Amino acid sequence: MASSHAGMTDEPRPRRPADRAWLDVPFEDKDAAKSRGAQWDPQARRWYAPRPGMLELMRWDTLPELLPTEDRTFGNGLYVDLIPKSSWFRNVRSAVDATDWHRIRTMVYSRAHNRCETCGRRQSDPVRLHCHERFDYAGQVQRLKRLLCVCADCHQATHFGHAQLSGKAGQALTHLMTVTGMTQHQAEAHIAAAFTLWEQRSKMAWILDLRMIEVAGVTVRDPEAPAQNPQPQRNPGERYDGTSVTITEGLDPFR
Ligand SMILES: [Zn+2]
Repeated sequence: MASSHAGMTDEPRPRRPADRAWLDVPFEDKDAAKSRGAQWDPQARRWYAPRPGMLELMRWDTLPELLPTEDRTFGNGLYVDLIPKSSWFRNVRSAVDATDWHRIRTMVYSRAHNRCETCGRRQSDPVRLHCHERFDYAGQVQRLKRLLCVCADCHQATHFGHAQLSGKAGQALTHLMTVTGMTQHQAEAHIAAAFTLWEQRSKMAWILDLRMIEVAGVTVRDPEAPAQNPQPQRNPGERYDGTSVTITEGLDPFR
């Protein structure tokens, strides 16, 4: 049986901010978005579309928090995960434009509630967040499987080769041990295994598969050829001697 409530009318209620069609507009795009009708919510400090479905603002639509083919169980926890040398500079960041990278990062940080998904620390000073890409390597295909919100320290430990390149291998090792609970011996064995795998994978030319973000509506372009990118410079004064592995050769770019 229908019931009535005092004060109810048939007039539409004002839309609460939570109902708004939020947009993820990078600072550089604010004028362009505004000229196409985007409005600014000063309380939420966020742009929104005054009406849902405005085609002229689709460029800045928020991405869904669950990407259709993403496996959010793939690669849990903190571990050293080196990008094959043959794939350096070929990643999501190099294959999408700045606006889409902003949409991707904003979604990844938001769904993780601005916490590192591997050590649990919340974004604050000095904890900065990064967006990390986890890939599966099978056949000749390097397939994007998962995007992860990680703090800069966890990201550095993940890309251990780059940490070494930057003279921060000791710091990365300490962080890896702190987060995972590994002993130094265990951590060094883990790093050695990661570099052995890196050497094997670096012998192959991988086909980059970013369909995971394409099916979510992000335009993927051909990543720039590695030769067109600046190569990292080794700091000759830095060397990590904490393990017997020759990891000075393992330099994977930090993403
Ligand atoms: Zn972390």
